Amino acid sequence: MEFYSTNNKETRVSLKEAVLQGLAPDNGLYMPEHISPLADPFFRDLHRKSFPQLSYEVARHLIGGDIPDEALKKIIDQTITFEAPLVKVGDCYSLELFHGPTLAFKDFGARFLAGLLGYYARQQDKEVTILVATSGDTGSAVANGFLNVPGTRVVVLYPSGKVSEIQEKQFTTLGGNITALEIEGTFDDCQRMVKEAFLDAALRAKLFLTSANSINMARLIPQMFYYFRAFAQLGADAKDVVFAVPCGNFGNLTAGLIAKRLGLPVKQFIAATNANDIVPEYLSSGTFAPRSSKQTISNAMDVGNPSNFARMLDLFHSDLPLMQKDITGYHFTDEETKTAMVNVLKNDNYILDPHGAVGYLGLKKYQQTNTQVTGIFLETAHPGKFKEVVEEVLAQELPLPDKLNAFLSKEKKTIAMSNEFGQLKSFLLQF
Ligand SMILES: *Cc1c(COP(=O)(O)O)cnc(C)c1O
Repeated sequence: MEFYSTNNKETRVSLKEAVLQGLAPDNGLYMPEHISPLADPFFRDLHRKSFPQLSYEVARHLIGGDIPDEALKKIIDQTITFEAPLVKVGDCYSLELFHGPTLAFKDFGARFLAGLLGYYARQQDKEVTILVATSGDTGSAVANGFLNVPGTRVVVLYPSGKVSEIQEKQFTTLGGNITALEIEGTFDDCQRMVKEAFLDAALRAKLFLTSANSINMARLIPQMFYYFRAFAQLGADAKDVVFAVPCGNFGNLTAGLIAKRLGLPVKQFIAATNANDIVPEYLSSGTFAPRSSKQTISNAMDVGNPSNFARMLDLFHSDLPLMQKDITGYHFTDEETKTAMVNVLKNDNYILDPHGAVGYLGLKKYQQTNTQVTGIFLETAHPGKFKEVVEEVLAQELPLPDKLNAFLSKEKKTIAMSNEFGQLKSFLLQF
C-alpha cells in the first residue's frame, strides 16, 4: 500500500515515510492509495471479536504488508488496552472515548503513533523529534504516549494561558524526552510555527523532524477502530446509524469517513462545531473561509483552519453535493452547549463535557428531522478534564478521577517563547 499527497497524487510514499514525515514535502496530507471494503465475514462476526482483535483486522486490511503482522499486532495490543463503551443517554448513545491514560480520545491516535514511530525509529540511526502543536488534549496524549519511547523526543507547543491547568499539567510535568514550549500567542500560531519548521531546509537537514498532529496518517488509523467497536456493541439496534462528531481539526470525522469506505454502514455523519464554524459554513455555502480561531468553552475545538479539511476534499473529489450526502454540518454557541449540559444531567443523569455536548447538540438537531435513526455521539473527553467549566455550568462539584489528580501534584516545567518562527528555529537548532 502506498500513500499519496493530497497536493499531488503522483507523490507516493510507503507507510514508513508517511508516518515519519507527517506532512508531505509539498505541504499536502498523506492518504492511503486504496480504501476497499472489508469482507462480509468480518462484519458478521464483529460482535464476537475483542476490541484489539477487530482493530488488528481493520488495520491489517488497510496497511497490512507495510509492516509485519506480528509487529502490527503488538502495537495494537499495546494501544487498545482500554474500552470504548457505548452508554445509553436518553434515546441515543454516548460513545465514551475517554478511558485512556489522559482521558481523551486522542490517546488512541497518540499511542498507536508512538508504537509505529518507535518501531521505525529503531530501524534508523537518527533520533526522531516529534513536533506537536496543541490546544490542550493533543499535547497530553502525545507526551504520555511517547514518554520513554527509545529513539524519540517530543517538543510540545501550546498557547500560554489558553489551556486548562489540568491539561497543561499533563504535558509540562513529565520531563525525560518531553519538552513543553509555552507560546505567547494562539493555537493557530503554534500550528503555523510547526508547519514552518517542517518546511525549513536548515531544520530538516539537522533534525529528523516529524509531527504528531492529526495531519499524521498514523493518528487517523486507530480512530477508525472505535467506529467499528460502536457497531459491535449496538446489536439489534445497528441500523440507520448516525455518528455525531464534535470537530476541531476534523481528524476524528475523517477517520469515520474512511471507516465508512472500509464498509461500515454509517447512514450519516454530523460534523458539529462550536463558533469556529468554517466547515459547517462550507457545507451550506460551498465557501471555505479559514480565519482566526475564536475562544470557546470547548477549547480543544477552537480551530480556525482545520487541517484535515484537505483530506475531506480529497475523499469527495472536491464535490460539495457528494460531501453533503455523507456529512451534515451544524455549529453551536457556548450558551447552547451549557444548556445541553444542564438538561442532559437533569433528564438523563449523565455528565457531558463541553466537547461531547457539542456532538450531542448536533445529534439532537439532526434527529429533529430524521426521527428514526440510531444516534451515537462521540464523547471525546472525560468531563473532569474541563473541571472549572463543568463545575460552573452544572453548579456542582466534580470529583477528579485519580488519573488526573496524579498529574496535578507535579511541578510544571516549560520554556517561554514568542510566536515568531525564528525563535523556535534557533531553539531547535541548538537542541
Ligand atoms: C481534539 C479534540 C476534539 C476535536 O477533534 P478533531 O479530530 O481535531 O476534530 C474534540 N474534543 C476533544 C476533547 C478534543 O481533545
